[in-house]
Amino acid sequence: MQQINVPVVAVDERPDLHEGPRVPKLGGFVPFSSCDWPGKLACVVFISGCPWRCHYCHNPHLQTRSKAAGDPAWADVLAWLETRRGLLDGVVICGGEPLAEPRLPEMLAQVKAQGFGVALHTGGGYPNRLHECLKLVDWVGFDVKAPFADYPRITRTKGSGDAARQSLKLVIESGVGFECRTTAHPALLSDADLLAIGKVLAAAGVAHYAVQKFRPHGCSDAELLAAPFSPGYPAAATLDALRNAFPNFTMRQS
Ligand code: SF4
Repeated sequence: MQQINVPVVAVDERPDLHEGPRVPKLGGFVPFSSCDWPGKLACVVFISGCPWRCHYCHNPHLQTRSKAAGDPAWADVLAWLETRRGLLDGVVICGGEPLAEPRLPEMLAQVKAQGFGVALHTGGGYPNRLHECLKLVDWVGFDVKAPFADYPRITRTKGSGDAARQSLKLVIESGVGFECRTTAHPALLSDADLLAIGKVLAAAGVAHYAVQKFRPHGCSDAELLAAPFSPGYPAAATLDALRNAFPNFTMRQS
């Protein structure tokens, strides 16, 4: 019999990694948050898996779809939600990249059927799945990593900018409330980059934009952690220009 040589790859390099019928893979759960969905009280569900490898990722343990002992089970989250009617407004789904979860549309429908709202935090790595989910989502926090042509500089993943551009267009066209936000580190994004991002987003009609200063917590990129972070970054002039470009602009220090 002819032997077939199957290339041995690490589990997380398998091309079908983010597809296929599997139970939802959760990497964490926070029962109460007042800061992940503006104006709402919500629990936060962390989905495992992300197609990108951002230098500044503060949840690198959620980049793979591997299961770890103690990870929450989706069925338990749904059962717990039953006890929180009238106490919580909804569920924030984040990651990782939550759209890496093939069963996400079904999960969102389950949450909605229980009478809770849904907020989705995403970088937009899976436009098709996002399209499926948007009708079930009440608010989106959309990460804009860089000028779209420069995404791989941050994500280390080819094609990531095209996926993000397409996803942002879907969010805008959906009419769902959303915020765009960008993590800023001077070693990755210059003031000119921030202005370029702002220009594209303002032209697209984005109303809420936030720049959030890089947080070292959880980041495992030694080079980035060692890189100097000038107190004058982003420059006051950059922040003024962004304030003038959006109806709502926020600079988050951490
Ligand atoms: S998209 Fe988010 S979860 Fe994925 S690597 Fe980047 S920062 Fe980490």
